[in-house]
Amino acid sequence: MAEKYDVIIVGAGVAGLQLGALLAHDGMRTLILEKSSRVGGRAFVLEKDGYVLDYGIHLVRFGPKSAIARVIKHIGRHVDFVDVGTSYLLDEDGRRKVFPTKPITFLKTRMFSFSDMITALKTMARLRRGQFDHLLETPVKEWMDENGFKGGLRRYFHLVSASMLVCPFIDKASTGELLRNVQKVLRRRISVMYPRGGWKPLFNAWIETVNSNGRILTDSPVKEVRIKNGRATGVVIEDGREFEAEKVVVAVPVQHMFSFLDEKEFPPEFVSMCKNLRPTAGVFIDYCIKGKISDSTGLWYIWDPMCFGLFTSNLEPALAPPEGQILTFFYPRPVEEMEDPEKAKQRIDELEKAVFNLFPELQDRIAWRRAAHLTMVDGVEINIHQHRFKRPGFRAPNIPNLFLVGDSTAGDGAGGDVGHESVLECYSEMMGREV
Ligand SMILES: Cc1cc2nc3c(=O)[nH]c(=O)nc-3n(C[C@H](O)[C@H](O)[C@H](O)COP(=O)(O)OP(=O)(O)OC[C@H]3O[C@@H](n4cnc5c(N)ncnc54)[C@H](O)[C@@H]3O)c2cc1C
Repeated sequence: MAEKYDVIIVGAGVAGLQLGALLAHDGMRTLILEKSSRVGGRAFVLEKDGYVLDYGIHLVRFGPKSAIARVIKHIGRHVDFVDVGTSYLLDEDGRRKVFPTKPITFLKTRMFSFSDMITALKTMARLRRGQFDHLLETPVKEWMDENGFKGGLRRYFHLVSASMLVCPFIDKASTGELLRNVQKVLRRRISVMYPRGGWKPLFNAWIETVNSNGRILTDSPVKEVRIKNGRATGVVIEDGREFEAEKVVVAVPVQHMFSFLDEKEFPPEFVSMCKNLRPTAGVFIDYCIKGKISDSTGLWYIWDPMCFGLFTSNLEPALAPPEGQILTFFYPRPVEEMEDPEKAKQRIDELEKAVFNLFPELQDRIAWRRAAHLTMVDGVEINIHQHRFKRPGFRAPNIPNLFLVGDSTAGDGAGGDVGHESVLECYSEMMGREV
C-alpha cells in the first residue's frame, strides 16, 4: 500500500524546503523527496576544519524585507540579518574606488566624473517612481547607448547587471528587469544582507518545521510523477516505493523535470520553454584563510575580469575559527564555457590571479581552498528572452494539482531571489491565500 500525504515535493533545495515548511506549518501532511544524500541543493552548507562554507557567495537580497524573512516569520521563527558594509571596485585604471550602493556613496565615489554623478543621481531619482515593463526586451547595452551613459556610469550599470542579474552580458541582459530590481532596492532601502549565524539556522528552521508534520527522505530520487486522467496522483522513487498525494510540487529546476514527468502530458511549447531555459553559470573560489587579511564587510568588485567577492566571516565571525577568515569570489561566465573543462579551468586561473592581485597577502595564508565551475548557478539568466513573463508559472499547464517552484520559474526578482519569491507565489497558487 502506498503511503499517503496531502502534498509531495520533489527536491529538498531551498525552494522545496521553504515551501514544505509553509505547508507543513499550515497543517498539510508533507513529504519531501530528495535525490542526494543531503538537503540544500545548490545552497548546501559545508563544514570542515572549523570553517563553515556557503556554496559560493550567498547573500539575501532585502534582508528583513525578503521573501525568506516572510517565510521564516510565517512559520513562527526569527532571523536577524547583518548589513553588508561599504563596497569597493578595483576599476579599469587599477585604482580602488568606493562602489556606490547607497545615495551617499554616489557622492563619495571616484568612479564618476561630476556630470556622471549628476546623471547617476537623476537616474536613481527617476527609477524610484518608474514602470519598466516596456523595457523588458531592451538589452542593457541599448538602454545605456540611448541614454548616453559613458565612462564610470556605464561601467557602474554594467557591474550592477553582472551582480544583480548575474548577467554581465549587457547585449542581452533585460533592462526592464534590471531597473525593477534597482527600484526595489531604492524603495526598500536595503540592498543585500547576510543571515546572522549563516544559512544553517535557516535550514534547521525549515527542516524542523517540515518534520513537525511530515518528513524528508534523502537518497530518494523520484523516477516518475504519476499522472492519471489529467491529475497528478503520486510519485514512484528509484527503489520502487510509491507515495500518493492530493498535490505534487516539482522543486527541481524546470530544465530537469522531464526526467520524471511524461512530456506528452504538456503543451509542446511549454516543454520547449522549460528545456531551453538558459541558466546563469560561472566559477567561484572559497578561500579558508589562516589569520586575518582584511576587516572589510562589503563586496569587492573587479572590473577585469568582471567578478565580485566578500569576506563572509567578517559579517558572521562564527563561520571561521577565531584566527581565520573566509573569502569567496565569483566570476559569472556563459554556460557553454563551463561545459568545457579546459575553458572552465582557464577561468578559475584568471579569477585566482585577479584575487591574488587584489589581496597579495592571501597567497601565503590559505589553509585550504575550494574552486568550482558550475553549469547552473541560478536556474535562469535574466535576459531579454527569459524575463518573468517568459518563464513557466507556478501551476503546470493541463494538470491542475501539479505545481512548480524554484529559481527557474516566473518568480519576481533576479538570481536566487527568483526562487525565494517563487515560494510565496507557489504557496498562494496552492492555498488560495498569501503568506
Ligand atoms: C555559487 C552560487 C552562488 C549563489 N549566490 C546566491 C546568493 O547570493 N543569494 C541567493 O539568494 N541565491 C544564490 N544562489 C542561488 C541559490 O543557491 C539557488 O537559487 C537555490 O539554491 C536554488 O534552490 P532550488 O530549491 O530552486 O533548486 P536546487 O538547489 O537545484 O534544488 C533542487 C533539489 O532537487 C533535487 N533533485 C533533483 N532531481 C531530483 C529527483 N529526480 N528526485 C528527487 N530530488 C531531486 C536536487 O538534488 C536538489 O537538492 C547562488 C547559487 C550558487 C550555485
